[in-house]
Amino acid sequence: MTSLPSKQARAAQTLTDPRWPLVQQRDKTADGRFVYSVKTTGIYCRPSCSARQALPENVQFHSSCQAAEDSGFRPCLRCKPNQASLAEQQQALVEQACRLIAEAETPPSLEQLAAQVGLSPYHFHRLFKSITGVTPKGYANAQRAARVRNHLQQGETVTAALYDAGFNSSGRFYTVADKLLGMTPRAYRDGGTNVRIRYAIGSCSLGRLLVAQSDRGICAILFGDNSQELEDDLQRRFPRAELEIADAAFSQTLSEVITFVEAPATGLSLPLDIRGTVFQQRVWQALQAIPPGETASYRQVAESIGSPRAVRAVAGACAANSLAVAVPCHRVVRNDGGLSGYRWGVERKRALLEKEAD
Ligand SMILES: [Zn+2]
Repeated sequence: MTSLPSKQARAAQTLTDPRWPLVQQRDKTADGRFVYSVKTTGIYCRPSCSARQALPENVQFHSSCQAAEDSGFRPCLRCKPNQASLAEQQQALVEQACRLIAEAETPPSLEQLAAQVGLSPYHFHRLFKSITGVTPKGYANAQRAARVRNHLQQGETVTAALYDAGFNSSGRFYTVADKLLGMTPRAYRDGGTNVRIRYAIGSCSLGRLLVAQSDRGICAILFGDNSQELEDDLQRRFPRAELEIADAAFSQTLSEVITFVEAPATGLSLPLDIRGTVFQQRVWQALQAIPPGETASYRQVAESIGSPRAVRAVAGACAANSLAVAVPCHRVVRNDGGLSGYRWGVERKRALLEKEAD
């Protein structure tokens, strides 16, 4: 006869879960990424709920409200976890505006954007800046700069890349390029010389984990068995960058990534700095469209990017991925559904897929 896990075992499970500190700190930024339930009351809450905190042995984490309700819990009346908070509604409006900017050939005006999301230009501008840290115009410039970056990585000349991205005056671009790219276009094409990358190493259920960040976002999430192996891997991927160990302030970022790796359905709100050829970027974008819990074959991915015969090249792009889980190359399987290889070991791939299948 098997007995239920002891009180200590249940407490230990909660105490070692990376989501528990977020609940203890009532971290608002964790809202929407997961909920937790309390066995003794039968309710579930947002991480930021102001209700008295439960004992760890009575707490359980769920990736969504639906998952908590399927386990028989009711939404808390105080934090209303099943209704979008004001912050979430505002976040959704800003995301909508970001999509409009990204999809437009020429950047929409402030008035057009504000009208699309149903706010006055004044309020929209303030809200956009408070959430993204940049103005709508600054964001549109960064989008165009990203397009230039893609062309530069293909080896196009700087002038041609500017032209392709819709900049008609290269002089104007150079004045903003340094700020947007963190380096000049020529330095970027030359392999990222002088780029500063900070990194930290922590532990997760799949072993050791390295998280690296450039000025533009998270540029590497790598698994390994020890620190030396991870540092060598990072150096190989960014041979000309200046690598340095991050200071203590980075631990928040590290813990956010670990939370995400442990429960990918919670999503990662940190910006990513994705570097690769245009083809690799197309593949990685297609991978990001495969939801947690589902898989696709190399052939399906090749078809989804409109290159049905590029199956081997798709496999190559998966192997070159530097952002484990954030670019979910573990969700790509053989045509017959078999696991096939994984850059960080097939055992980790199996563990990730099993975790997501729950
Ligand atoms: Zn609550």
